[in-house]
Amino acid sequence: MQSKRGWYWLRLLVGGLLLASIATPSANGRGLSVAVSESPNRQPAIPRADQDAAADELLEQFVKETGQRPNILWLVVDDLGFGDVGGPWGGGEMLGAETPNIDALSSGGLALTSTYSQPTCTPTRSAMMTGRLPVRTGLIRPILAGDVIARNPWADEKSVAAILSEAGYHTVLTGKWHTGELEGMRPHEVGFDEFQGYYASQKELTQQFDARRYPDLVLNEERLARFQEVSGRIDMHYGEKGKGEKVVVKTKSVEQFAEADQLLTDFTIGKIKKLAKGDKPFFISHNFMRVHADNHPSKTYRGASASKYPFKDNVVEVDAHVGSMVAALDEAGVLENTFIFFTSDNGPQLDAWPDSGHTPFRSGKGTAWEGAVRVPGIAYWKGMIAPRESAELFDLLDLFNTTVHLAGADDQIPDDRYIDGIDQTSFLIGEDGQSKREHVYIWLGEQLMAVRMYEYKLHLQVMHQESAFQAIDFATRSHVGLSPWLFNLYIDPKEQMPVGHRMNPWLASIGGEAKMHGATFMRFPPKDVGLSTEAK
Ligand code: CA
Repeated sequence: MQSKRGWYWLRLLVGGLLLASIATPSANGRGLSVAVSESPNRQPAIPRADQDAAADELLEQFVKETGQRPNILWLVVDDLGFGDVGGPWGGGEMLGAETPNIDALSSGGLALTSTYSQPTCTPTRSAMMTGRLPVRTGLIRPILAGDVIARNPWADEKSVAAILSEAGYHTVLTGKWHTGELEGMRPHEVGFDEFQGYYASQKELTQQFDARRYPDLVLNEERLARFQEVSGRIDMHYGEKGKGEKVVVKTKSVEQFAEADQLLTDFTIGKIKKLAKGDKPFFISHNFMRVHADNHPSKTYRGASASKYPFKDNVVEVDAHVGSMVAALDEAGVLENTFIFFTSDNGPQLDAWPDSGHTPFRSGKGTAWEGAVRVPGIAYWKGMIAPRESAELFDLLDLFNTTVHLAGADDQIPDDRYIDGIDQTSFLIGEDGQSKREHVYIWLGEQLMAVRMYEYKLHLQVMHQESAFQAIDFATRSHVGLSPWLFNLYIDPKEQMPVGHRMNPWLASIGGEAKMHGATFMRFPPKDVGLSTEAK
């Protein structure tokens, strides 16, 4: 049950947005909005019937010619900033870490410059898996060492892997999971046929070996023993559906863990080679451990970046692994049969600077500012997606619906709960495809912070930082005053100059959309799995 306190945000929405009632009429009577809902438990989407029909024809033709649904490869980097990648994102060589392989994907595919994640790791990863906002699944913040989970969030969720397995795919998760490591919450227990990787973030896996950074932990034997009792499992595991799991590589030192991403890439490449010869299509979600703090360069890539900083060396390593996995698909003869999506699970963790990435936007991981949630996004499918760039909205939630649609399994998406993702197949593969997403809702924990709609972004609550690089450890969340803060990201991408009462034709309209979003939680109450940090 949601406590009274937990409903605070909803009261704010319903009671605070007085301006919402004066929206001007439009196609659906909702002012700026033209989106419509196909059912009460689906996120409203911009109707694009012709585009959808053309994309489906293309997809059916592909299936007819190849005799199979497409393979799907997700490449998810941890905490990579929007501005760390070259090409349209403006990083790469200019910032001392070249990314030629990622650049090749973006120049050969669809570069999405308005891709949105959730503000932190676990929320984004669970959203991609379920097509549902973290506040709905209960996975509202990263699970940390010593956390007590009140109930298994996965017990009543259906993952994209479960749907694709049932649709005839072989499904694999490589690398970081971070959405529950207790029994019943592991990748091979929530739908994946195979899992090889780690349950937590790099820092949590290596801190007990790093005396230079954590002397008060590592050099105090008694505390170290107590820490090890509450910390989760730090070794690389292999799990198989229905067969349990085992440790395959023990984590023994910082230097040894630094080789993890190479081992994980080798694993994925091995799977690609094997599965390419099989008669089933495959879905592989490859999740890099890098470039989350703490970054320790591997032997091969130490000093490989022009910058020589560990974070940058690790960006170079990630880029090399992206290149070798794409090359493996090519060598196995399935590059043209594989839809690839490259992204990051959230913006740079500025609190770890200089062991963090770069964003041209305001703030970083852990807030609702663009720096936290605007990430690189690339959809690549040789021969199916024409090289182009789009600044239209794509939410990583949409990967759920899009992946399911590519697999031809739309009818397996549950209809007894709210689904926030939108099928964006026709945006990604259609010639000149346009986004069907009109809104991006940015939640932080149990709080609705902001709404992006077209080029506008409206904040209901904001994060203030005590210092420029500390968005998590030295920041305060507060409610806005009389009016929500409205920014026009086309003329003010850094969110510094609200336009609400200077030029505000859509202030009320966007506020109304936030209110309608809030109302979906009255019908479909959020799930509490014990990760709340609110006083109750
Ligand atoms: Ca992350």
